[in-house]
Amino acid sequence: MNRKPDKNGYVYLVGAGPGDPGLITVKGLGCICRADVIIYDYLAHKGLLDHAPPDAELIYAGKIGGAHNHEQWQINELLVNKALQGNTVIRLKGGDPFVFGRGGEECEALAAAGVPFEIVPGITAGIAAPAYAGIPLTHRNYTTSVAFVTGHESPGKEASEIDWEKLSTGSGTLVFYMGIKNLPHIAENLLANGRPPETPVALIRWGTRPEQEVLLGTLADIAEKARRAAFKPPAITIIGEVVNLREKLRWFDNRPLFGKGLLVTRAADQAGEFARLLSANGAHVFECPAISIIPPESYDDLDQSIRSLHCFNWVIFTSFNGVKHFFHRLHALKLDSRALALCKVCAVGPKTKTALAVYGIRADLVPADYKAEGVVEAFKSLDVAGKTALFPRADRARDVIPKGLAKLGMEVEAPIAYRNIIPEDLPQDVLEALEGKRIHCAAFTSSSTIENLAAMVGENRLLHLLEGVRIASIGPITSKACREFGLKVDVEPKEHTVEALTREIVRYFSENKL
Ligand code: SAH
Repeated sequence: MNRKPDKNGYVYLVGAGPGDPGLITVKGLGCICRADVIIYDYLAHKGLLDHAPPDAELIYAGKIGGAHNHEQWQINELLVNKALQGNTVIRLKGGDPFVFGRGGEECEALAAAGVPFEIVPGITAGIAAPAYAGIPLTHRNYTTSVAFVTGHESPGKEASEIDWEKLSTGSGTLVFYMGIKNLPHIAENLLANGRPPETPVALIRWGTRPEQEVLLGTLADIAEKARRAAFKPPAITIIGEVVNLREKLRWFDNRPLFGKGLLVTRAADQAGEFARLLSANGAHVFECPAISIIPPESYDDLDQSIRSLHCFNWVIFTSFNGVKHFFHRLHALKLDSRALALCKVCAVGPKTKTALAVYGIRADLVPADYKAEGVVEAFKSLDVAGKTALFPRADRARDVIPKGLAKLGMEVEAPIAYRNIIPEDLPQDVLEALEGKRIHCAAFTSSSTIENLAAMVGENRLLHLLEGVRIASIGPITSKACREFGLKVDVEPKEHTVEALTREIVRYFSENKL
């Protein structure tokens, strides 16, 4: 797909899926990656916009509970105009664009204006939310049919277009969208038309997201239960015997960290492996980029070392970023992994080892203790006096390795391969979650993550924001840095990896009911 496949532009109506950003289709994500303009809805996960090209124009067309920021005709007009200017326009809609999403109306407008378009279906909330609540919409033993119904008929309509008599008993499972405000009315109509009062009902709010809430009841009592719980939209209402299966099939909202807010600080451009591990355990992860990785002011030193790689006995990598930047320069100098043929390679731990493996390099040495001190310790058992080592490092790296290896008689060159800089702001959602006490644990994976966070928000404010928040640290050096800021460390794994840290956080929260 070209960015501008037609001189008149092109519109893709893309289903963003129900909330979990992983539930967008591959094709939908591809469209976002190539967009000139994205017009997105309230229900589309904002994280998906991170995939847009940096110069794409992002327009919020949101509708929040009926408060229309843009009227539908304005959205139609916007779509047509942006396309006619020659843009590739993505209309990003929650769930599926053609399921209660007004996608039909938007396409009619495009068709009338002669603008070419494509539909990229999405997983609709009516399917995804029950799946994440452990409710199969159909099941051989309970029902053979399912109906999707709007619970919010157009306010302009005089008489209901829903044939309640047929609907009540005509379909085994009923799925109502936008039905929370009208719940008493819906229940009343179904009861009046022959659906038994003991029919189980589930309300699923923010289905598939870490903040998913489920309220169970029966047709007879659900409206009152929802009123008492002040249950709010957006929520899907599932009615039918299949709801009872949740008791056996619940899998999403009972994972160990479900309902826990986890603050994770990480380099802005690093793959969020740690965040992924925490999310997989049910945590609501708030990512706060405390470090941005940028190139050094000059690559001269690193380039010079790379050109004389054959002179080094060892090359030492202590991070994923060190590996990434080293190979970036190696390739920029029109070299490849063969330039390391005469060198032995040390990786600080399993992650760095894997990063090297991507470039076809098998680490010769991985210390038992995955940190700088461990590297020095590992070299002690080798005969390295008089040998040379190249250590491509971060600008603010500790000098444990150069100093330690020099003591062993090695000659160490340590050019800067990348720099850590501090972003200027905390993301708004992180700040709001901290202030609203929705974050239960802050996890730090290096001393610079805590140092940079403190530099960003200020030391006093840091203590205030983290009041009552449990602190998890990857290892003793990071813990020491946390303590220096007056924080008490609650969780520290024995092995200094994000996997071990995740396990330890899970254990902490299952032992301490907070
Ligand atoms: N096109 C969308 C539906 C838009 S109508 C889709 O296919 O999913 C808006 C309604 O969808 C909301 O009022 C709510 O009933 C439902 N909805 C959307 N996302 C939801 C979610 N994550 N959890 C529960 N309900 C959701």
